[in-house]
Amino acid sequence: MIVDSHCHLDGPVFDADRDEVLARARNAGVSFMLAIGTGDGPPDLEAAIRIAEDHPDIAATVGVHPHDALKFDDATAARLDALCQHPQVLAVGEIGIDYHYANSPRERQKLAFVRQMEIAAGRRKPISIHTRDAWEDTLDLLSLHWAGTGLGGIMHCFTGSSEQAARCLDMGFMLSFSGVLTFARSGDLRATARWIPIDRLLVETDSPYLTPAPHRKIRRNEPRFVVETARSLAGLRGVSYEEAATVTTANFRRLFAMDERTAGGRANYGSSAT
Ligand SMILES: [Zn+2]
Repeated sequence: MIVDSHCHLDGPVFDADRDEVLARARNAGVSFMLAIGTGDGPPDLEAAIRIAEDHPDIAATVGVHPHDALKFDDATAARLDALCQHPQVLAVGEIGIDYHYANSPRERQKLAFVRQMEIAAGRRKPISIHTRDAWEDTLDLLSLHWAGTGLGGIMHCFTGSSEQAARCLDMGFMLSFSGVLTFARSGDLRATARWIPIDRLLVETDSPYLTPAPHRKIRRNEPRFVVETARSLAGLRGVSYEEAATVTTANFRRLFAMDERTAGGRANYGSSAT
């Protein structure tokens, strides 16, 4: 059993066969999926909740992606705060900063990021972080507004350096590796993945993006392929696939205070929902 700690299941790319995609994931041993709820941005904040409500093995996040920061306003903040109380919402995300695409002005991205950290802190929810070409500002804002909460979170699709990894670990984050770990050019990232403390490792697909090797010809990624990233991670760490899957699953459950007895079945969300 393994957890896909970051996937986008709501897009039209899955409309024709979403149930088959989920069935294939379960058949591959994926016991739990965290569906990211950023969707097309505000005003709709429930893209992942709609899917999670139909599936006991899927939980949701709520949040405004940095690409949509311009659409973040007071009404968005109030709605996000309310949705954090939904029983299947585990985290706020993906939130952060993206200077690569720069779809929203930098100051607006920072503002939306900080306000969402405040909402998550108020509701005692971990956060899932997106950062691209913006490491310094992301780490600065996290240390100012998040590290002190002790809530931790997930550095989604971690592709940073060893120094950046160390700073994230210091602030209590899990580092989640995606299919990028399997790409030929990712030698530095694989070197980093070798030394991260084993209790801080997660794996994800970021479906429908970033299909891992050896399936890169399949353009649409899906949660079943998280197995390939975990296999790659296992090879780097010199452990079996089963151990990599077990450890990353345990890390995910610990972060969200999920009941250990619900090994892949219905999660007990109660302990983190206050
Ligand atoms: Zn994502």
